[in-house]
Amino acid sequence: QEFGDAPFPPAVMDVLRSARYGAPSPIQAQAWPLALAGRDLVAIASTGSGKTLGFLLPALLHIQSRGGDPALGPTAVVLAPTRELARQIEVEARRFAHLVVSGSGAGAAEQQHHHWHHRPPQPRGRRGAAQGVAGGLRTACLYGGAMRRWQLEELARQPHLVIATPGRLLDFIEAGDVRMKQVSYLVLDEADRMLDMGFEEQIAAIARSMPADRQTLFFSATWPDDVREAAAAFARRRAVRLF
Ligand code: AMP
Repeated sequence: QEFGDAPFPPAVMDVLRSARYGAPSPIQAQAWPLALAGRDLVAIASTGSGKTLGFLLPALLHIQSRGGDPALGPTAVVLAPTRELARQIEVEARRFAHLVVSGSGAGAAEQQHHHWHHRPPQPRGRRGAAQGVAGGLRTACLYGGAMRRWQLEELARQPHLVIATPGRLLDFIEAGDVRMKQVSYLVLDEADRMLDMGFEEQIAAIARSMPADRQTLFFSATWPDDVREAAAAFARRRAVRLF
């Protein structure tokens, strides 16, 4: 399998090629077409498998094709067990997010014609915070142990994609600082670690705050009973298993 077969627009393909990855990893080759077709996935994948781009690139195209209103909340949410992982995922997301024109606002016309723009990344804010690029998709990263106020500023920029640890995201949801009513793409990354850390209740509450007909991608490095039960609880019954 070659990147040339991957279903992404030219600007995204350019970044993939310039990264000299060689070829899509097996999880990417399997996950991309399924995720883009709207299927739920339950995948056993560990760090180094390329799973992050496996769920992120379809997330960005999903957001673009939905054309939602970011003022009503994010379209896609990625939950991760730790601050470190959440930040790594955001770094990966931001390599591509600025290349994807959002559906509402300035990019609406281009979006209808699946037109893509190459835009240089903008300088980061004074604390290296995620900052939206004009016309590109915006990301926000929310995690515990950091100032709520800074993260509120990220939410005020109306991100299309939120990457978060469960406890902190639920805090913001319960405080009314972010709405989940428009979420149609949910990723649970390293679900086994999230369960080990006792996040199951928070994840369940977050999932309940989202539309039930959303697409869910569930990733775990291991497959014990509690992970099976969580996969059954959060992904649809027709989810495709990538083991
Ligand atoms: P992950 O398994 O998602 O944590 O990714 C591990 C590392 O592999 C990250 O640094 C990615 O940038 C990199 N990576 C992602 N996709 C590929 C690929 N197709 N080939 C080589 N490396 C990749």
